[in-house]
Amino acid sequence: MTVVKLIHDWAPNSRFIHKQGRYKSPNCPRCKLGQEDTSHILMCTDPEVILNRFKCLLTLLEILKSYHTLIHILASFEYKLCCVLGIPFNRLFAPVTALDIQTKIALLASIRHQTRHQTIIGWDLFIKGYILVNWQAAFMALTTQSSEAPLPHIWTNYLSFEAITLLQDIWKGGNIFLHGTTKQESKLRERM
Ligand SMILES: [Zn+2]
Repeated sequence: MTVVKLIHDWAPNSRFIHKQGRYKSPNCPRCKLGQEDTSHILMCTDPEVILNRFKCLLTLLEILKSYHTLIHILASFEYKLCCVLGIPFNRLFAPVTALDIQTKIALLASIRHQTRHQTIIGWDLFIKGYILVNWQAAFMALTTQSSEAPLPHIWTNYLSFEAITLLQDIWKGGNIFLHGTTKQESKLRERM
């Protein structure tokens, strides 16, 4: 399934396949609270689904860390994405690096600026690939970036790719419940 279908809610969720007469109910098969569409998958209150979202978010943040993303940016992403995904905020990426005060002020000002603008666009849309280009400025704010760090525009490309991968991973986790893991399971469950 393509990510475009997922972003535009053409994914085979229970609302979609119920409309096609292939599933008994449009409601979420896990929490039963409301119709299951792409937005619901991001906010479903079933504990297993929340745990899956947490694991997917953690994977995203660890991958971004491996791309030399500053811990201050990761802390901002963690907080905002925990809010939009209904995950308890654990402060897994609390900044501990000792920076001189001037660098710290410049860095935090840049991150706050980008965070505010991403909030205007929407953090739910961040996961769908609508990512503020200026995150690149926050990535570059600290001049002592490691020489192994990717070039800023390459980092922005990684960021977009990994954010969309987060949406796909969250979808896959929920999809296993609805469709199973094999074609046979899928046919059986659709008749239920
Ligand atoms: Zn649900």
